[in-house]
Amino acid sequence: MFGNIEIIIAMLEKVGMVALLVMAYRGIRHARFSMLRSSFAIGILFSFGTLVTMLDPLVVSPGIVLDIRTVMVALAALFGGPLATAIVVATSLSMRIYIGGAGMLAGCVSILLAAAVGLVYARLSRQRTDLIGLTILGLALSISLLSVFLAPVPAFLMSTPALVLRNVFGTVILGYLLAMEDRREAEYIAYKREAERDPLTGLRNRRALEDFDGQVRKQNASSKFAILMIDIDDFKSLNDIHGHSFGDIVLRRLADVVVGRLRGFDIVVRYGGEEFCVVLREATLHNARRIGEDIMQQVREERFDAEGDEVRVTVSIGVAQSGVKTPSLFHVIDHADEALYEAKNSGRNRICVYRPDAIAATTQRAV
Ligand code: GH3
Ligand code: MG
Ligand code: MG
Repeated sequence: MFGNIEIIIAMLEKVGMVALLVMAYRGIRHARFSMLRSSFAIGILFSFGTLVTMLDPLVVSPGIVLDIRTVMVALAALFGGPLATAIVVATSLSMRIYIGGAGMLAGCVSILLAAAVGLVYARLSRQRTDLIGLTILGLALSISLLSVFLAPVPAFLMSTPALVLRNVFGTVILGYLLAMEDRREAEYIAYKREAERDPLTGLRNRRALEDFDGQVRKQNASSKFAILMIDIDDFKSLNDIHGHSFGDIVLRRLADVVVGRLRGFDIVVRYGGEEFCVVLREATLHNARRIGEDIMQQVREERFDAEGDEVRVTVSIGVAQSGVKTPSLFHVIDHADEALYEAKNSGRNRICVYRPDAIAATTQRAV
């Protein structure tokens, strides 16, 4: 029989194990694996947790064993789905059979019942992980206690209240900590998205280019890409004449025009005040120029109403393409910027293409 001190020390050991489990779970969520991989990783993690708890149960008194395997199995179902559940069930059943003994059948049935309860709860509650939901799951796990009828030791029946409490506390505490990690990760993703977005146009900002730059640096930007640097002409005087809020309206509309001309997998960002950068994936220089000309034409056709005055706007565009040994995305952006500079210098409202030796201006003057 355990004394109080031993129980406290043993409980602290369990708390340490739970903390490790939660930390590892955080790592899996943060790695943002695909659904399948994530479910697999959670299955492995919970299997590990289940094996540890089964190998080192807390025996409070003969017949009362506080291992939390059923809690682990049910939470694997809730947080990892069917694949994670299958992995945990397979490992914990194997371990229970390996441990053997008179309670083997009851032990195996309790694992299967816990998995069924976890999966049904996850489905019916749509993966509800608040305190009330977790309490319901913990109480529902009492169904797995039906397996005590298969156990040869009647003393098990005496410990039923303790086992129900174990299920409820185990599910609520561990489940709540895991749910906190999910919430933290969701918040992190939301903040990151917000930090990458320009509030005026709704486009992403420069930071959004960093992921793609990472791919280019690793040389796995699968194929060629092209850059369009688009800058509104004489925007400062437009602001000066019609006001800053009119300028904002123009910026928003032009952002829509640019987005409207692109394909779903292209990237467009607000690169500076009145400058947009477009990454055209898998585009040749020829395609990129066509898209750029299309955007220019579309912008020319836009009519803006400034308190009764009809205002038109033009843009200048610089185009550049990645090469075989492009060291970084920003290298190509610099080239497109040079081409844009050329377009501005040669009179604006035109598109220029960057060439390594010389910058060739096209003849896209406005009519
Ligand atoms: P250029 O044809 O050479 O590009 O001339 P520009 O006047 O367009 O370029 P310049 O760089 O001189 O001025 C850009 C202006 O864009 C200045 C700045 O006030 C304005 N601007 C930058 N961000 C915003 C914004 O969010 N809203 C508004 N309304 N104006 C902005
Ligand atoms: Mg400008
Ligand atoms: Mg500018």
